[in-house]
Amino acid sequence: MTDIDRSKPVLVTGANGYVASWLVKKLLDEGLTVHGTVRDPANTKKVGHLLKLAEVAPGTLKLFAADLLSDGAFDEAAQGCELVFHTASPFIIRIRDPQTELVDPALNGTRNVLETCNRVESVKRVVLTTSVAAIYGDAADMTDAGLEAFTEAQWNTSSSLEHQPYSYSKTVAEKEAWRIAKGQERWDLVCINPALVLGPSLSQASDSTSLVTIKQLANGTMKPGAPALEFGIVDVRDVALAHYQAGFTPAAKGRHIVVSDTANFLDMAAIIRRHFGNGYPLPRKTLPKFLVWLVGPIQGGISRRFVSRNVGHKLRFDNSRAREQLGVAFRRVEDTIRDHFQQMLDDGLIQQR
Ligand code: NAP
Repeated sequence: MTDIDRSKPVLVTGANGYVASWLVKKLLDEGLTVHGTVRDPANTKKVGHLLKLAEVAPGTLKLFAADLLSDGAFDEAAQGCELVFHTASPFIIRIRDPQTELVDPALNGTRNVLETCNRVESVKRVVLTTSVAAIYGDAADMTDAGLEAFTEAQWNTSSSLEHQPYSYSKTVAEKEAWRIAKGQERWDLVCINPALVLGPSLSQASDSTSLVTIKQLANGTMKPGAPALEFGIVDVRDVALAHYQAGFTPAAKGRHIVVSDTANFLDMAAIIRRHFGNGYPLPRKTLPKFLVWLVGPIQGGISRRFVSRNVGHKLRFDNSRAREQLGVAFRRVEDTIRDHFQQMLDDGLIQQR
C-alpha cells in the first residue's frame, strides 16, 4: 500500500467509544480531519467530550449519524477517506439475546462498513478493531493446543452463541472482514486484536465492560474474594496508538495482538492498594474454584463451563508483532490501573477514602 494522504479525512466508526475516543484524540492532535460516526450526534452526553477535544486540537472533527444495522449508513461519512478505522461494536457481557445484541451489530455491522469501503473509491486501508477474543475463547484453549502463549496464528474455535457469545461475535466479524477484504484489491485490511483494555476514559457515557471491571473491584463486589481469572491487559492509550500506527504504516498487515501483560483480580487490587491505600473494599484472597463453580451461575452470571475452562488456567500472549511491526512500547499494567483508578476518583465515580 502507498502512503495515506494526511490531507484527506479519516473515518472512525463508533467515534465516541472508550477506545475510539483516544484514537480520535490522537488523530486530531496530529492535525487530521476526522469523520466520526456515532448513533446520535445530538446526544451531548455521548459526544460532548469529542467536541471539547476538537476545540483545542489542530485537527478538525465532523460527526455523522450512522447505525451499524442500517445499510449504507456509513457511505456519506466515508466520502473522500483513504483510511477507515472500524471500531464500533458492542462490548457488553450481560446480555439477554446474544444474536441481536452482539452478533448482528458485530457481523452485519462489519459487513455494512466494508461494503461502504467497496463502494467508496477513495478507500485504501481499513483498520479493524477486533479482539484477542477472536484468537481464543477460553484460557484452557492454550494448554489444550500445547501452546506456551497465543499468537496471531490462532483462531477462536471454542466460542458460540451459547458459550462466550461476545467472543463469538468478534470471531465471526473478523472472519467476515478477511473474506470481504480478499474479494477485492483496492484496500487492504489490518487488524488490531486487543486484550482487556483499561486506563483512563475520556468519556463518561461508555457502556464498555472495561469500565465496569475496575468499578466492580472498587465497590466491594469482590471483597469476600476474587476468582482466579487471568486477563491480558492493555492500556487504552496504547490501543489507540496501535490503531494509528496500523493506519499510517504502509507495510503493516495482518493481525496484531495488542496486550501488555497478564494479571488477575488480586494483582489489580494490589496495584490499587499500593497507590491509593487500604481504604477501599478490594479483594485480598482467591475464591476456591469449586465455590466459583457452585455460585458463579447464580450470583455472578457466569456459566459452569466458563468456570471450568477459565478459572485457574494460565493465559499468555505473544505481543511481538505489535511491538516490532507497529512500534508500540506497551505501558506497564501497574501504570494503566493506577491512571484508570485516578481518573475514576477525579470524575467522582469512586468516593475518595
Ligand atoms: P464502547 O465504549 O462501548 O464503544 C462501542 C462503540 O460501538 C460505541 O461507540 C457504540 O455506540 C458503538 N455501537 C454499538 N452498537 C452500535 C450500533 N448498533 N450502531 C452504531 N454504533 C454502535 O466499547 P469499547 O470498549 O470502546 O469497544 C470498542 C471496540 O473495541 C469494540 O469493537 C470492541 O469489541 C473492541 N475491543 C474492546 C476491548 C475492551 O477491553 N474494551 C477489548 C478488545 C476489543 P453507542 O455509544 O451509541 O452505544
